[in-house]
Amino acid sequence: TIENDYHSDIAFYSKNLFDRSIEERRIIGEFEGALNRKEFVMFLQPQVNAKGELYGAEALVRWQHAQRGLLSPAMFIDVLEKAGLIYKLDRYIWESAAQKLKEWKDKGAEQYHISVNISTKDFYFVDIYEIFTGLIEKYDIRPDRLNLEITETALMSDFDKNMEILKQLQEYGFKIEIDDFGSGYSSLNMLKDISADVLKIDMGFLRASENEAKGMDILESIIVLAGKLGMDVITEGVEMEKQLTMLSNMGCGIFQGYYFSKPIPTNEFEDKYHIF
Ligand code: C2E
Ligand code: MG
Ligand code: MG
Ligand code: MG
Repeated sequence: TIENDYHSDIAFYSKNLFDRSIEERRIIGEFEGALNRKEFVMFLQPQVNAKGELYGAEALVRWQHAQRGLLSPAMFIDVLEKAGLIYKLDRYIWESAAQKLKEWKDKGAEQYHISVNISTKDFYFVDIYEIFTGLIEKYDIRPDRLNLEITETALMSDFDKNMEILKQLQEYGFKIEIDDFGSGYSSLNMLKDISADVLKIDMGFLRASENEAKGMDILESIIVLAGKLGMDVITEGVEMEKQLTMLSNMGCGIFQGYYFSKPIPTNEFEDKYHIF
């Protein structure tokens, strides 16, 4: 009966909630130790042109857990954000990226950038300007090699203040990338108020648009618009050749997706793309 279904739904739902809160407490409890033991690792996913030539890389964290194996960010980023701990992980990954760029520079490969993710919570807990400019000085690397990814949703949460910080970073020489564009609500209006360098079209937006005439028109319009506003466009989540062809025809020049490569360990990345 409907009533039974209703009750079993609730039971299922609360069991899930219960399991989830145990899981969350476990992650929070293990976090600092894992960070000290260097269980968090920076993977790199290539961003390439249609020929597959390297444009840059995105740093994506994985947790090499002693008992549970390799954990994906979906399992812990939200939890760490809620717990006010994400800034500790992010600082670590930002520094890993800066270190890697320094190594590449010393080995004569200064042409590639690494993009790092910034969580909206980071703005509240640390001085982002100081951290990033500090990394540039400490590692003696170019600011336009350590790109900053921020989601449109994160930006919207405190637009004026966060925008101001990003503008200062941009003046210092950093490149700003709008991540997951098309997954939020504020999309087009926001482009007027922000001068980002790169627009990253969300994978979900690509999926939702690609098999529908109207969706394709919108996708193409956004690519054209971004170009007019002077931004590079990267489409995320490209898995199939026909997507690559479609997006190329629409004027998108840079791609990030499994069609080319999943995020991989840095040494594999360096081999695959002959970084040095
Ligand atoms: P994001 O920044 O939008 O990163 C892109 C995500 O899409 C990555 O997931 C990547 O592996 C995935 N992806 C790329 N191409 C494809 C594809 O062709 N197919 C599919 N199915 N997926 C693809 P990942 O690594 O699991 O990271 C998920 C999210 O976690 C990231 O989304 C980002 O928001 C967050 N994240 C990852 N690393 C960090 C970090 O160091 N700090 C913070 N604050 N967030 C991070
Ligand atoms: Mg990102
Ligand atoms: Mg994204
Ligand atoms: Mg995302």
